[in-house]
Amino acid sequence: MHAVHQLHQYRKSLSTTTYKSRGQRVIRCQLCQLAKPFCICEISPLKENVETTAGFLLLMYDTEVLKPSNTGKLIADLIPDTFAFLWSRTQENPDLLAVINDEKWFPLVVFPQEYADDERKVFTNNVICPEGKRPLFIMLDGSWREAKKMFRKSPYLDRFPMVSFDVKTAIQAVSGNCQSENNSQLSPVGQDSRYTVRKTELEHQFSTAEVAARVLDMHGETTNAHMLDLWFDVFNFQYQKGVCQRNKGNVNAIENYQSFLAKTYR
Ligand SMILES: [Zn+2]
Repeated sequence: MHAVHQLHQYRKSLSTTTYKSRGQRVIRCQLCQLAKPFCICEISPLKENVETTAGFLLLMYDTEVLKPSNTGKLIADLIPDTFAFLWSRTQENPDLLAVINDEKWFPLVVFPQEYADDERKVFTNNVICPEGKRPLFIMLDGSWREAKKMFRKSPYLDRFPMVSFDVKTAIQAVSGNCQSENNSQLSPVGQDSRYTVRKTELEHQFSTAEVAARVLDMHGETTNAHMLDLWFDVFNFQYQKGVCQRNKGNVNAIENYQSFLAKTYR
């Protein structure tokens, strides 16, 4: 179990009633939260030796972690140093503060540049870490409205630089990553129909996992970025099998992912 699995259990234990998610009658895998027949845990990338210097900290809004569609867990499947906490406006969380105050990390808040005030340092192309430090990407995980609220009302994050990416470049990168090497199996999914797990706006048209892939790219970890995109595709396709009449996911998702895994960790 990784941090998001643990947070899921913890948040569930706080609920007095069962969380009513979409398709609540479906029997789900307790880890990937997909309907049991579509579980992807067996092919999770955790079993491979992922090489990374990045860490992620997911600040999750209230019931976000309970939503089967949440993709924060996919980051934790790939990146060993992934932390996950419930966000609170009023209560300090000592465990969260211990992580962001740990000297080994260079914490960065991943959020659209236009929300930065003038003095704030924003990395928009690549992330430059001070010597001896590792980037800790802080993701505000919730709906767009919730993410904006977390951004505004978390004063302990204000002192950290931000990471922001250009949406157009990112869409190109994502589309490129769904194609197989010889281009014979182009993703059948169009740019606008790809982001169907959760419909949101602007930079938030990307799921949390896809945003994480973009910042891994900016950190120079293109293989991990690619892996996370493909892993998201697998999740997206399997998720839609459980909820949609018409699956807009990538039918080649599992094949693409597995052939990339085999090539990378051969
Ligand atoms: Zn599973």
